[in-house]
Amino acid sequence: MSPLVSRLLLVEDDEDDYILARDYIEQFSTLAFEIDWVTNQQDALAKMAENRHDICLLDYQLGAENGLTVLKLGIEAGFTSPIIMLTGQADEEVDMAALDAGAVDYIIKSELSSSRFARAIRYALARREIEKERVDRLKAEAENRSKDRFLAHLSHELRTPLTSILGYTELLMDSKVGQSAQSELSIVLNNSKHLLSLLNNMLDLSKIAADKLELNLSEVNLDAMIADVYALMTIPATDKGLTLTVSSATPLPLKITTDATRFRQVLINLISNAIKFTEKGNVDVNLWSENRDETDYLYFTVVDTGIGIPKNQIGCIFKPFEQVADVVSRNQGGSGLGLAICNELVSKMGGEVSLTSEFGKGSCFTAYIETGDVSQVPYEVLKFDSKPLMAKEVNNQSYQGKVLVVDDVNDIRMLVGHMLSGMGLHVEYGKNGLEALDKINDARNESAPYDLVLIDIHMPVMDGSEAIKHIRSNGIDTPIVAMTAATMKGVRDQLIYQGFTNVIEKPINPESLMVVLGTYLQPGTAEKRLSPDDNQIELSNTTEPSEQHILLVEDDADAADITALLLENLGVDVHIAHSGEECLAVFSQRNDWSKVLMDLNLPDANGLKLAKELRKNAPQLEMVLLSGEEPDSAEMADADISKFILKPINKQVLTDLVKG
Ligand code: ADP
Repeated sequence: MSPLVSRLLLVEDDEDDYILARDYIEQFSTLAFEIDWVTNQQDALAKMAENRHDICLLDYQLGAENGLTVLKLGIEAGFTSPIIMLTGQADEEVDMAALDAGAVDYIIKSELSSSRFARAIRYALARREIEKERVDRLKAEAENRSKDRFLAHLSHELRTPLTSILGYTELLMDSKVGQSAQSELSIVLNNSKHLLSLLNNMLDLSKIAADKLELNLSEVNLDAMIADVYALMTIPATDKGLTLTVSSATPLPLKITTDATRFRQVLINLISNAIKFTEKGNVDVNLWSENRDETDYLYFTVVDTGIGIPKNQIGCIFKPFEQVADVVSRNQGGSGLGLAICNELVSKMGGEVSLTSEFGKGSCFTAYIETGDVSQVPYEVLKFDSKPLMAKEVNNQSYQGKVLVVDDVNDIRMLVGHMLSGMGLHVEYGKNGLEALDKINDARNESAPYDLVLIDIHMPVMDGSEAIKHIRSNGIDTPIVAMTAATMKGVRDQLIYQGFTNVIEKPINPESLMVVLGTYLQPGTAEKRLSPDDNQIELSNTTEPSEQHILLVEDDADAADITALLLENLGVDVHIAHSGEECLAVFSQRNDWSKVLMDLNLPDANGLKLAKELRKNAPQLEMVLLSGEEPDSAEMADADISKFILKPINKQVLTDLVKG
């Protein structure tokens, strides 16, 4: 292999020395040079300013000029490659001065014939290579960082207009005008929701790329979580006529340590894909636990009988934006981001995802995650394979009454609420035991108690068991039904003993729900809703006027209008400010604000700084930050803001806020 040619600048006023140096350099066996020779300071500096050479040999004595000056001026002029100083004789002081001024080495001219000369040049070039790699790496990192910032910024910016699209569509769907265009509006709504999930995926990916995605580990009840995922996924599976089973052949640890949200995201993604790419047959999820090298892992496979993935594409579908180029998958929509995110999340959780597939026959995704130590927790076999009937398939039974549904998982709340409202019931929601307690007490004080409460057992803030203690000790005898995965023997008896009226097993299906409703509620006489929908439930609840005065600070006029409309719909008195300046002016008009909703990025102010400013005159006031990206928690704490709403804002979020 012919050696790579390096460009060498030789600054030497003595022709004999130049020839000598050149001859030795040309004798190097592994290095080849293209030599530029200059004899004075002026020419040397001109060449050095070009910064084209890979190395420079610089004579210390350039006639009347001092090589050290050339050295310093050359570096100042922008020469970044290594410089080796050539000196007439050994002089420690001169050598040190050369190194101090930025030379990488020095050579006494009598050493030009020695191996020391060749070595010095080789080292200098190697150093340059390392430095170049370092600079290239830094450049690439900076580019990546700016790309990630751009992505984060973009998805943030897109959230604000999405607020208007989603908000107005929801509002229209509930209005008389919208009744005749329900199917068109639901297309707009579905597409906006799809856009939102794309944005969330992009945000996840940019966080992963910037290494900013942090896991939130906590103890998770595996049975309850799997039951929830099963309940959610049976809807699309049943819609396509597929059978979904989730089971474990061997007992599973009922408590694991993981990031519940992220783990759920991975499971839902793999199961949704399996459903999406399967036209008939089954989707089967199997789980098992393993201990390897003193670490506990949870394994799961998602097996489908769908279109499968061609062998040559198996490797790439875990990369962002990769989809199998196939008519069917193209018809299915999607962005090709889901699996890339799953892959990253699972590896963050200490595991891996892998795939086997036979094109035309089906796919099998296998993944595992670390679970923390599960040696001391109870184990149980899980099995969910009943084919739950969806609300629309259940006979037209209807009930009357007011039901409170309490679950920390939004989708499950909505799912159960959807089934109940489909049966003609008036539904309200709570996210945890504490909210349930407040709502039940308020309802009783307003002489409009709930007819039935359905409450999840495992919830943050206050769990179901704690809530029932308080509820019953307040003398409330409303029927309260626990929703639980209840796989362990004796759980049911224990819950009844705690004060629950009954227990309904998760995953909840309409059949078992109807058995419970039939026991505690009166059959309905009222006509059923034409199209039961969560939004309608909320709207019908929300007409009582409230005394709340909310200041909404949002610079985007459309987003401000729809948020205000939704709030007014909840009976709130809303005042809008579009800038920091306007905010201060409006704020000073009254001193009985209930809340301030503050956009993070305003044209003339930063929401957090503005909040601090308002705080000076209203230390107790509740302030809520609105933003398209998660704000820095330390900065939020500094501005004394504890609540934050991620855009796009919807009715459910605002309802929770106003009622909360
Ligand atoms: P999306 O589904 O949004 O396109 P994913 O990253 O989740 O993105 O999946 C990437 C691609 O992998 C899909 O578009 C599809 O072509 C293929 N794929 C994923 N899961 C399956 C499956 N179970 N069966 C067949 N193809 C699949």
